Amino acid sequence: MTTQNITTLIEVSRQYGKDKSFVIAGGGNTSYKDATHIWIKASGAALETIDENGFVCLSREKLKIVSTKTYAQDATQREAEVKADLTNAIVSSGNNRPSVETSMHEIIDYPFVVHTHPTRVNAVMCANNAKKTCTDLFGDQALFIPYTDPGYILFKKVLTEIANYTSKYSKAPQIIFLENHGIFVAGETTDEINGLYSTIMEKIDHQIRGDQLNASQQDLKSVLIDQVQNLHPGFKDFVAIGKSSQLISHFMKDSTSFQKANTAFTPDDIVYCKAYYLFLPACNTDQELVASAQERIDAYYKSYGYLPKVLALEGKGIVGVEENTKSTLNVLEVYSNILLISQLTENFGGPKFMNKEQIEFIDNWEVENYRRKMAKS
Ligand SMILES: [Zn+2]
Repeated sequence: MTTQNITTLIEVSRQYGKDKSFVIAGGGNTSYKDATHIWIKASGAALETIDENGFVCLSREKLKIVSTKTYAQDATQREAEVKADLTNAIVSSGNNRPSVETSMHEIIDYPFVVHTHPTRVNAVMCANNAKKTCTDLFGDQALFIPYTDPGYILFKKVLTEIANYTSKYSKAPQIIFLENHGIFVAGETTDEINGLYSTIMEKIDHQIRGDQLNASQQDLKSVLIDQVQNLHPGFKDFVAIGKSSQLISHFMKDSTSFQKANTAFTPDDIVYCKAYYLFLPACNTDQELVASAQERIDAYYKSYGYLPKVLALEGKGIVGVEENTKSTLNVLEVYSNILLISQLTENFGGPKFMNKEQIEFIDNWEVENYRRKMAKS
């Protein structure tokens, strides 16, 4: 192992990992590769605190098979086959599973790769004018990938687009934007990556007009928090935490304002918060509010087959409900970021959420379920 490069990889991972404007709830991943091996963040590891044990080392020779092999048509079977090939390429010891985005890191032709989901980048990536904004701001400097189901299909799409870009410009792309997802930035050194990230953020910042609503949060009190266990049998032993802020109030004002915050922008949003958020209209008494919430949560459960993680209280704020305090705070963090992004998308043509088919693909994806499980522990 090239120790200095791994130390550099750990440093750059922590640097971006602890910056909430780049990495929310442990999302994102980083890698370093030499001629024969690639070191990539393990699935479920947090960039912020990562050390050498948080990376998986794989053989690049063995990973190449993913680019050329013909896999099953059926999505579940195909992803299982790809996963088996990834596992087969692991050379490090331990039970760490490589990031689901490993094959994508492998085909980016630079030693260092830092993949993140920055709020400001996603303000562009989750907006109606994503592609146009990208072309206007970055021209030939960046590759834009329209939304594609994650996993193998996205990998193949990126593989083709990188090849096209490289033959056109005689140089592999260093900036790859993924619609409704985030960004990959690659370089010979991490200094080069830092420079590119700064330029990207500056260019996006220049397009953001007007004052932003205050996003600093206060604790929210509600009978729904005190009585969360009574709202649905599935909430037994669950933790509910409520928050309010100027930004939250803007979206929770009424059911019309909530339309711009009622579903997911990215696959990661679904991993942590599920894809649909439940609006609860204001009631005259606490008793009525509890009864109305019980009814609406039950209807939600019947229609989606799972319980809501985000309750949107009209005129009040938001309540996250999850298994433990850590996972509930993750839900609130990710959902609050959806609100920030939604507000910022107004500079780029307004919010563009994931559609029903895209959401269903994620809901059925085993790899994401594994990530969800790891994030809770
Ligand atoms: Zn990602």
